[in-house]
Amino acid sequence: MTNVSIENLVKLYPGRSVPAVKDVSLLIETGSLTALLGPSACGKSTILKMIAGLLAPTSGDIRFGDHSILRLPPEKRDAVMVFQDHLLFPYMTVAENIGFGLKMRRRPKAEISHAVGTMLELVKLDGMATRKPNQLSGGQQQRIALARALILRPKILLLDEPFSSLDANLRLEMQQLLKSLHQEMGMTMLFVTHDQEEAVALSSKIALILDGTLRQYADAATLYGQPEDLDVAKFFGAKNFIPGISSSGHFECALGRLTLPVTANSNGSMLTFRPENVVIGVTDSAENSFHATIESKKFLGNQTQLRLSKGGTTFDASLPPLIAAPLLEGSTVSVHLPRQSLWALP
Ligand code: ADP
Ligand code: MG
Repeated sequence: MTNVSIENLVKLYPGRSVPAVKDVSLLIETGSLTALLGPSACGKSTILKMIAGLLAPTSGDIRFGDHSILRLPPEKRDAVMVFQDHLLFPYMTVAENIGFGLKMRRRPKAEISHAVGTMLELVKLDGMATRKPNQLSGGQQQRIALARALILRPKILLLDEPFSSLDANLRLEMQQLLKSLHQEMGMTMLFVTHDQEEAVALSSKIALILDGTLRQYADAATLYGQPEDLDVAKFFGAKNFIPGISSSGHFECALGRLTLPVTANSNGSMLTFRPENVVIGVTDSAENSFHATIESKKFLGNQTQLRLSKGGTTFDASLPPLIAAPLLEGSTVSVHLPRQSLWALP
């Protein structure tokens, strides 16, 4: 088995003045399901196409294990790509669609038929082998597209927003299926999405790309709780930003002198914490506790959002609706910010 490593990858499209991909380096571990996350036009598909061999990099390298694959044509790379619009062959049966890649590789008929049977079972389409794609739902067609790629057992499976055209329920079902396929087959997968929830639900590690640059490569908990900078924090929905000064494990700001976690960045000048981690009405911890006024309260269905203020500085907290119900606008409450929920941004 082999790691896939991307080294200082740059892509400048002809006629453009700014590269679409700017010096991206990334090590994708063997057997991992890694997400390439970022907003539209940040360069995700461009990176995938360079790995698949559909596009040549301007500079940089892509290695499978110790070997650069840049000189290999797409069909020799052992990297297979699944797209959002999965273009099945309409005149072929489901089984023929799934077996197509092996047929092109001139594998014996018996082997193809056995492999197709296994794949049909894995993507839960047994009994559908002789149907044509137009007799199937969108979700079933997407399963065939997956099976058609998986059957080749590539060194890396590249998935470019494969579920983004499906509705929410079907999308969840396909995420579950992909996750279990990944576990069963142990294949290295690189999954592109613009949806942070999808990235978090699927992957062990997420590479966040903003504007062609890799901004942070970490697990979901780190990206949510310890973003490297303001842009990463904002992408992951961080809301509270309080300016101040950090020194020797503390942060001085309008909310007081707060104790930071031991892992904190010691020269951060912007404190951030997530609204869902703010504790209201519990005072048994003296550390990071203070009083604040409820300026406004908004019921959002599955949570209630409070806007709190202390000494002219405002911040948000979100609470389960039942817990927030008795809290009145204009009243003063005690607030606790657990040390582990705080993070000082540079
Ligand atoms: P993403 O997949 O993250 O939405 P892309 O990799 O498709 O982003 O595109 C990144 C940037 O490169 C965009 O600004 C896009 O307009 C530009 N781009 C993509 N393909 C081409 C091309 N063939 N020629 C010129 N510019 C391109
Ligand atoms: Mg794209």
